[in-house]
Amino acid sequence: QDHKVEDFISSPLYSVLIISYEMLLRCLEQIQAVEFNLLICDEGHRLKNSSIKTTTALTALSCERRIILTGTPIQNDLQEFYALIEFVNPGILGSLSTYRKIYEEPIVKSREPSATKEEKELGEKRAAELTRLTGFFILRRTQEVINQFLPPKKESIIFCLPTALQLELYRKLLSSQVIRSCLQGRLESSPHLVCIGALKKLCNHPCLLFKALKEKTCDAVSDEQDESSLYEGLIDVFPQGYTSDTCSESDSGKLQVLVKLLAAIHELSSSERQVVVLVSNYTQTLNILQETCKHYGYSYTRLDGHTPVSQRQQIVDAFNSKFCSAFVFLLSSKAGGVGLNLVGASHLVLYDIDWNPATDIQAMARVWRDGQKQTVHIYRLLTTGSIEEKIYQRQISKQDLSGAVVDLSKTSEHIHFSIEELKDLFTLHEDSSCVTHDLLECDCMGSSEFQNSSTEEPTVSRSCQLGQNHVKPNSKKPLSMSQLMQWKHFSGQYQTLDDPFLERIKENVSFFFHNVTNSASL
Ligand SMILES: [Zn+2]
Repeated sequence: QDHKVEDFISSPLYSVLIISYEMLLRCLEQIQAVEFNLLICDEGHRLKNSSIKTTTALTALSCERRIILTGTPIQNDLQEFYALIEFVNPGILGSLSTYRKIYEEPIVKSREPSATKEEKELGEKRAAELTRLTGFFILRRTQEVINQFLPPKKESIIFCLPTALQLELYRKLLSSQVIRSCLQGRLESSPHLVCIGALKKLCNHPCLLFKALKEKTCDAVSDEQDESSLYEGLIDVFPQGYTSDTCSESDSGKLQVLVKLLAAIHELSSSERQVVVLVSNYTQTLNILQETCKHYGYSYTRLDGHTPVSQRQQIVDAFNSKFCSAFVFLLSSKAGGVGLNLVGASHLVLYDIDWNPATDIQAMARVWRDGQKQTVHIYRLLTTGSIEEKIYQRQISKQDLSGAVVDLSKTSEHIHFSIEELKDLFTLHEDSSCVTHDLLECDCMGSSEFQNSSTEEPTVSRSCQLGQNHVKPNSKKPLSMSQLMQWKHFSGQYQTLDDPFLERIKENVSFFFHNVTNSASL
């Protein structure tokens, strides 16, 4: 092996040397004797520490032109950033101590919550300067570059009609003392979170609510007073003989739609492999979805928070293999981290909605990504007129205001609700086929001929230390209201839908938003 380096040096035939960092260190003495015209360092973030051996060795090579390639957001750590800049363009930022004083310290300080107005201004000014200075030799290419080569993505937001039982329970919950007190702002603790939780459960399936209230009644020493009083009288709304094992689809609007959707996809899967990822934020909901799969004889595999980390990759690899027999992949949205790749599936259903749009975006990116060969279908299920629509509206309306950085660590506990917002959350709209469409003030009446599918991709920014204003945001930002306006809108009564899957479920659906990305590659 070592002879290859010798060959390269002694023969005039070779003009390029491709070598690993480890090998370079081993043969450094020989290689140092060569004069190179260009040095390209892949995975260049390895050079983020100027004191490590590899960096010292590379710096010692006789070569003036240096290029670093990296997929890591190098601006997120200003010290590492300095080391990388120093490698490709020595001296441009001055000495390390000067750099710290002029750039790093003011920028870091300006980002602390305690920063004064002056500190914030100074930090922003220095960040802008640093971006301008390094912008002459930093070239950024984002996910969008790859996205345009991916197969088409068909996204649908599906507003599912709630069942009679769901409506009755919903009304009962809204009339409870706890919710009325929330709206008067009289409670100091945060019972609204319990109320929101109960409504979300109800939207997923009434049996989840039934289970919760059974547990409360058994649990006599419960100190969760708010929750107990929220459930007061609720049991009488359930039909006689209702048990928590009764998770039939006839009681849940979304589950009815899901069952029809799965049947339609399953039929098609006999001719070509079609696999579905079912995503929920809740383990209990995944249990219901799993029971549904069992009931209809669909083979499934499952990954949630309880799956040992050591087994996860194995489950994913088996699933992505073309020999995998599973039709459904049950996935907890919080499990798996960023790297989880599920390109073996071409359909993804978001069964419930999270306050944090990043959770949903991450789930969608597991399927529509590098390596995907089929057209991808993404379905977001929302219960018409319910709190789910409100959460969705919050996701999209906030985006117009800030274009904010999406942070996966944000949960509902971090959200502060005003009384007005709570009033809105705790309102059930029974007379609208789509409150979100009403909110857009679109006058299409649910038969829009918006053919101009948006080509603009929803994009999140990595937290870039150089500030959002100066660097083009990377990756994925959630959909905004103005983008949603560009989607196709149609009501469930729409004559015929050109999507065969949507056509099969429209009976239980009051409204659709639909959009196709990369339709040209169809
Ligand atoms: Zn419309």
